[in-house]
Amino acid sequence: MTQNTAEAGTATGLGDDPMVVAENVHKHFGRLEVLRGIDMEVHRGDVCCVVGPSGSGKSTFLRCINHLEKISAGRLWVDGQLMGYRQRAGKLYELHDAQVARQRRGIGMVFQNFNLFPHMTVLGNLLEAPVRVNHRPRSEARKEALDLLDRVGLADKAGEYPRQLSGGQQQRVAIARALAMRPGLMLFDEPTSALDPELVGEVLDVMKGLAEEGMTMVVVTHEMGFAREVGDKLVFMDEGIVVESGEPRRVLADPQHDRTRSFLSKVL
Ligand code: ADP
Ligand code: MG
Repeated sequence: MTQNTAEAGTATGLGDDPMVVAENVHKHFGRLEVLRGIDMEVHRGDVCCVVGPSGSGKSTFLRCINHLEKISAGRLWVDGQLMGYRQRAGKLYELHDAQVARQRRGIGMVFQNFNLFPHMTVLGNLLEAPVRVNHRPRSEARKEALDLLDRVGLADKAGEYPRQLSGGQQQRVAIARALAMRPGLMLFDEPTSALDPELVGEVLDVMKGLAEEGMTMVVVTHEMGFAREVGDKLVFMDEGIVVESGEPRRVLADPQHDRTRSFLSKVL
């Protein structure tokens, strides 16, 4: 997939048109500096896996990408758009909430704890945003939702409630729900960390399928096998900075920094 995407990108001139660009991104909560100058690029169709110790700022960075957190300094572009701001005549103007919401709609997010709407059926979960937010006709959204459920292997669960499903099934619903908004970018925050070990594989398989179809993904994960097999890029974060990044196999086999080596020795 890496190969094909890279070639397609070059052939269509998209090679220098990244999906995500973070430039010197800082984030602090009061005096706590959580992100201390993150630079990162994720190319279209690539899977970027982000790893690092607990508390290193991985979730905060993901939340900054879709502007759930407002960055303290730096710039963040997604799909060519500066998140949260409009640039005019060299000046930056903050966007209104509705404009930010519109930017955010193109970005799907999947959380560790699924976050499904418990009082809605599986199908209801998938229809909510497309119908209410994007004003898509219900019948059309329904057809697409059923296709998405089929794609994540849950066509027969449309009428069930989240509590009737296993964790792995709930997470696959959460992925389908995010896809129902037709995002150009998918963010995953430790999507398998809350799952029993025997359910991890079914979720990773769905994510692998998405990657093979060319979805651009940023995945915070401790699944090094997934990072190695599916990732185009591995980013190691510690204490709010990117310590090193590169081709996953290279970083895993030959880490350049002591901090990376020490982290990998604990998780591999
Ligand atoms: P990771 O996902 O790598 O474990 P996080 O991004 O969740 O790290 O957290 C990084 C640091 O930021 C932690 O010290 C955490 O307590 C702090 N933090 C995260 N969100 C907030 C918040 N809303 N207010 C204050 N501190 C926060
Ligand atoms: Mg986290």
